[in-house]
Amino acid sequence: MIDALEPTTAAALAAVRAACRVCRAVASGAIEAVIKADDSPVTIADFAAQAVVLHELQRAGALTQLVGEESATELRRDGRLAQAVLAAARVAWTDATVDDVLDAIDAGAQRPAAAPYWTLDPIDGTKGFLRRGQYAVCLAEVEGTTAVRGVMGCPNLAPDPSIPPDVVDAGGTLFVADREGPALQLGLDDGSMLALPTVAAALSEPVLVTHSVESGHTRVEGVARVLASLGRAHRTMPCDSQAKYAMVARGQAHAYLRIPTNPERVEMVWDHAAGVALATRTGMCVTDLRGRPFDFHSPAGLRDNFGILCVHPELHAPLLAALAAGA
Ligand SMILES: [Mg+2]
Repeated sequence: MIDALEPTTAAALAAVRAACRVCRAVASGAIEAVIKADDSPVTIADFAAQAVVLHELQRAGALTQLVGEESATELRRDGRLAQAVLAAARVAWTDATVDDVLDAIDAGAQRPAAAPYWTLDPIDGTKGFLRRGQYAVCLAEVEGTTAVRGVMGCPNLAPDPSIPPDVVDAGGTLFVADREGPALQLGLDDGSMLALPTVAAALSEPVLVTHSVESGHTRVEGVARVLASLGRAHRTMPCDSQAKYAMVARGQAHAYLRIPTNPERVEMVWDHAAGVALATRTGMCVTDLRGRPFDFHSPAGLRDNFGILCVHPELHAPLLAALAAGA
């Protein structure tokens, strides 16, 4: 199956795999966090992972314009931090120089007017990474309005979906949605691989629901109200990062809801593209809270979408109705 991947997807997979090695190496020591201007944390692993993904895509001849979360601006001001990032990047990019690394990071800070583009969140869920919980390296390619392929590396997520996300797994999991064919789940270390089935089974109870750990991302009480209005037994499994999309894609959860705390918030493309590509490929319904498909055409963000509803097809209409009724 892996041989059947399009070369571009295989390059993206190799890049994400390399970035996961960097993240793990940083996580195994003391992790340094720097606070960004918007108050979200960033670590040397975020920067180093972005550099390594850019380098790997470039090496494979697969790099076009890439919209990554990070830029090297701060690192160009702070030589000590730049050296720490270089040391982390060298886990996977052994002959890199500091200039190579800073230039690679900035090559991922492009903001083209519209698709096509790659988008990368080198560490999605940095707060999860800092608390040694779930986080994800997320890379996707967008054409038109759609994420046409995506790769997600979840170094702390168990390959076995019966193991909940609050259990940190030493093995880790990768997910791949190629342009065509089934979505794949791969072991990060062990070479295992399976095709994720497209959803077919009727929904069983309890309905398993995942949402953000961070209360700043979603109105947890709103999610609870919507679920209560369904009238079905349910259980929630909070999880950091886009691993939530992977949980739904592989049937570990039936629904991922985000009801934004801030109605003005514009979701970033790198926070969703890989996850949406993956969950869509296994037949899940992925729209915003008004039932509109995600529109990724602008790297400036999902301006025409509000919130997230990534669910088993049987739940989509009832949840939209509950949301429309103001539950
Ligand atoms: Mg990030």
